Amino acid sequence: MTEVDHTHAIDLESWFEPANRVKTDFPIQNLPLGMYRIAGSNDAFRACTAIGDHILDLAAVDAVYTENLNELAASGRTTWRQLRSDLSQALSDTSRRSQIERFLTPLDQVELGLPVLSRDFTDFFTSYFHAYNAGKLFRPDDPLTPNFKWMPIAYHGRASSIVLSGTAVRRPWGQIMTPDSSQPTFAPSRFVDFETELGFVIGPGTGFGDTVAIDQAEDHLLGVVLLNDWSARDIQAWEYQPLGPFLAKSFATTISPWIVTMEALAPFRVPAFKRFEGDPPPLPHLRSTANDRSGHVSINVEAHIKPALGSLQRLSRANYSSSYWNPAQLVAHHTSNGCPLNTGDLLGTGTISGPTDGEAGALLELGKMGQTPVVLEDGSTQTSLADGDVLTLRGGCEREGFRSIGFGEAAGAVMPAIPA
Ligand code: CA
Repeated sequence: MTEVDHTHAIDLESWFEPANRVKTDFPIQNLPLGMYRIAGSNDAFRACTAIGDHILDLAAVDAVYTENLNELAASGRTTWRQLRSDLSQALSDTSRRSQIERFLTPLDQVELGLPVLSRDFTDFFTSYFHAYNAGKLFRPDDPLTPNFKWMPIAYHGRASSIVLSGTAVRRPWGQIMTPDSSQPTFAPSRFVDFETELGFVIGPGTGFGDTVAIDQAEDHLLGVVLLNDWSARDIQAWEYQPLGPFLAKSFATTISPWIVTMEALAPFRVPAFKRFEGDPPPLPHLRSTANDRSGHVSINVEAHIKPALGSLQRLSRANYSSSYWNPAQLVAHHTSNGCPLNTGDLLGTGTISGPTDGEAGALLELGKMGQTPVVLEDGSTQTSLADGDVLTLRGGCEREGFRSIGFGEAAGAVMPAIPA
């Protein structure tokens, strides 16, 4: 597990003034990893970090990676920790300013790229509150499946439709079965939804047949991105039994450009989810003393909507630490049968919802499947996403005595379906 060190000190400042502004997502304590090129160029993407309202090319500290961050991801925690320390030093030591500042470029002059190449995408289902609320809509008598409290449930998503924040998402066509008809129709979805999630990025992979003990699980995690698992609820309702979601989810998954590293998250670690009275403890391979103590992470996640004809407003806010299963448990469970994880693979947390109404991470749940439409600030109501709506996820961490850090955003507009 990562530890708090000098790079997290609240009084650490950069000679680059925009990094010290109160509101920035990217103070010197964050140092997320991403890929960039100069906007409008056809250059290869190069590794960078975000600092204030600029990017810093990692060449500033002799760490050159092109195309994506997979090579860096594969190198492991010793390399990541050294890189963080080097960047922190380069951006705080005033004597290095003249040497380092030529590697800075304003964020509004660059194009960001997908941070990693993901060959596999697994989406979990780890929030008890989401599982219960969503389960109640589909199966009122039996909302929570019997396995939920024993394992982090997941399905195998598609890595081929992972897109970067800013990419427009087309309303998908699919089979839709309405309650009053005897057969499905093939039509554009009428219930496009979002899911507020985080995505953990796999660092060093695991071998065929290898299992990973829970206390080594985080050695395989580079960091976290925001993740919107776009979902077509009407397609999902007809297709999901018996093998789980498929085309209702695989048309697009949006991620944020910045990987906030596990090192940066060290000050925000919290105990594993406190189970309810009468819940079983996790089986031994999903539990350890260290995981009980600090296996979870406190990350605030928010969903904002900018309706095609309205103003930007927040739909929901929740904290990831309210999810039943934590990151190390996901890795331990995923590898428990010997199936390899590859560098760059993405593990989605599943929709992050808290216990109260304003903490639901999807319209399905916020609006109880259309029964109680969400009322927006201007009085209009929203049961699903309309063409032209822009959905933006944001995230951040805060804790007394530490500098707050942010995740940037994962945004996408809904485009009309391809005409018949
Ligand atoms: Ca999901």
